[in-house]
Amino acid sequence: MISNSDISDLFKLMGNLLDLHGENEFKSRSYATASFRLDKYPKPIISMPAEDRQQIEGVGKGIYAKLDELIATGTIAELDSLLAKTPKGVLEMMKIKGIGPKKVRTIWLELEIESVGELLYACNENRLVGLNGFGAKTQDAVIKSIEFMQSNSGKLHFDVAEMEARTIIKEMNAVSITAEPLAELARRCEIVNEIELLVAGGFSPILSKSVEDCMAVAGYDLHSSTENQLQFKGASKIVEVKIRFADAENYEAMKFQYTPTPEFLEVVGFDKSTFSSEADFFTQKQLPFIIPEMRENKDTLAWATTIKDVENIIQFNHLKGCIHNHSVWSDGSNTVEEMANACMDLGLEYFVISDHSKTAVYANGLQVDRILKQQEEINKLNQKFAASGNPFRVFKSIESDILGDGSLDYEEEILKTFDLVIASVHSNLKMDEEKANMRVIRAIENPYTRILGHPTGRLLLSRPGYPVNHKLMIDACAANNVVIELNAHPYRLDLDWRWINYAQEKGVMISIDPDAHEIAGINDMYYGVCVARKAGLLAANVLNTKTLAEFEKWLRR
Ligand SMILES: [Zn+2]
Ligand SMILES: [Zn+2]
Repeated sequence: MISNSDISDLFKLMGNLLDLHGENEFKSRSYATASFRLDKYPKPIISMPAEDRQQIEGVGKGIYAKLDELIATGTIAELDSLLAKTPKGVLEMMKIKGIGPKKVRTIWLELEIESVGELLYACNENRLVGLNGFGAKTQDAVIKSIEFMQSNSGKLHFDVAEMEARTIIKEMNAVSITAEPLAELARRCEIVNEIELLVAGGFSPILSKSVEDCMAVAGYDLHSSTENQLQFKGASKIVEVKIRFADAENYEAMKFQYTPTPEFLEVVGFDKSTFSSEADFFTQKQLPFIIPEMRENKDTLAWATTIKDVENIIQFNHLKGCIHNHSVWSDGSNTVEEMANACMDLGLEYFVISDHSKTAVYANGLQVDRILKQQEEINKLNQKFAASGNPFRVFKSIESDILGDGSLDYEEEILKTFDLVIASVHSNLKMDEEKANMRVIRAIENPYTRILGHPTGRLLLSRPGYPVNHKLMIDACAANNVVIELNAHPYRLDLDWRWINYAQEKGVMISIDPDAHEIAGINDMYYGVCVARKAGLLAANVLNTKTLAEFEKWLRR
C-alpha cells in the first residue's frame, strides 16, 4: 500500500524534474508544497474518499487530479514522461547534497555532464566555479557529497586504494609490524575491489590483536577471521581489507601465491609443494622472471615471455619529459613557468604545455589571439632558461578538440605554429562506433596530429569510453605515425593497458601523459607507469622517455 510519505516523495520528484527540465517555476513550487503537506497529513491518503482528498490544505487543484490519477492507476503519466527524458546519471546527480535541480540543469546543459563521476572529475578540474550561480563553496560541497555517494560503490580507483593501504601499513610500522600489498594492489590494477596485505609473522593471538588495534586506528573493525587470515570492514570505508600472516619460512611462497590472479597461477602451473623461491620457480618453469604487475592472465603471460630483460619495461625514472599539461591560460591552476619549474625539480628535461582549444569554451579554451600571446610567453621563458645556461625546454602545444566531423579546431596557419598538436574528443561523446571511428581516424589522419589524447574518453567507475574500434584506431596511428596517449590521470588510464601490446606490435609509440591541471597532477605519470607495466610496455616505445635532443629530433620528424 502506498503510504503518505511515498506519495510525498513522488510529488517532490515531480517538482524537481519540472525544475530540471526548465518548466514553469510556479508549477514546480506547487508540487513542492503539496509534497510537504501530503507528508505531514495525519490520515492515510490512499484510503480517503476522493471528495475528502480535495479538502487537504495546501494542495492545488491541478495536483488533486494527479493524486487521483496516482491512486487509480498507480502512476502519473506526466512523471513517467519526465523520467523518460532524464538520463539515469542526471537523476543520480539530483541526489547530490548541496545542489538543487536548477543547478543540476545548469551542469547538465552547460557542461554536458550526465553522470556523477563526470561531475566529480569536472569539480577536480575546477569547472563548476566558472558557472553562473556557483562558487568554490558549492564545488567543495559537491565533491564531499559525491565522495560520500561513491563510498557505497564498493570499488576504488588505484590511487585511493594505494593511499589507503599506505595509511594502514604506516599504522602497523609504528608498532614494528611489517606488511606489504598482495593481489590487485601488488599487480597495480586500475580498479581495486579489496585491499589485501601480507603481514610478516606467524598467526598468533598477540600479533592478531596488534593488527586489530592498528586497523581500528585506520577505521576498520574485524569482520571475520579464519586460520591465518583476518577480514576487516569499516563503516565509512569503501572496500574490505584482508590480512594474511606468514612466518619467515612461508613468507616468500605466500607472497608469490597471493599476488597473481588464480588464472595466472593455473596457466603457469603453480604448485606450492615444489616452490622454493620466486626466481627459482620461473627458472624451473623455463620462464623469464615475470614482474608482479603482469601476473594477470594468459595474454600477459604470453607477452611477458617475449621480454628479454625486465629492466627494459617502463619505470618512472625512465621518463625524461612531461607532455600534455594545462595552465592558467585555460583551466589549470598554475602558470606555465610554475609547471615547468616543477618538472625541472623532478629531474625532467622538457615540458609540453597543451592548453584547451577554442571550442572548449567551458575550459577557457584559447582563441587565436591568446594562442599567440601564450607562445610569446613560452619563447620568453625558454630565452630565460637559455640565458642562465639551463638546457630545460618548454614546448608549444595545444589539446585541440576533435570536432563532430573529425576535423581539428584551428586553421592550418595556426596549427603549424605549435611544436606538436594533441587531438582529443571532448564533446558529443555519445556516438555509435561508426561515428566514433570516423571522428578519431580523421583526426589521426590530420597531418598536424602528433598525439591522440585519451583515446576513448572513459572515466573509470563512472563513464565508459565511446565505442571506438581499438584495432582500427591503432592501425591508423601506425599508418600515420601518430603516438597514442596513455592518459595517466587515475580516473582515465586511457589507452586501456590491455591494448598496449597491440600498439607495440604495430610499432605505435605510447606517450604517458599526466594531463596535469596543477603542479600536483604532474605526479600522476606514476599511475600511467603502473598500468603500462601491466602491459609490459617497453621504455623504448614510450615517447617521453626520449631525451631532449631525441625529442626535438622527433618533433622535426
Ligand atoms: Zn582532454
Ligand atoms: Zn587535457
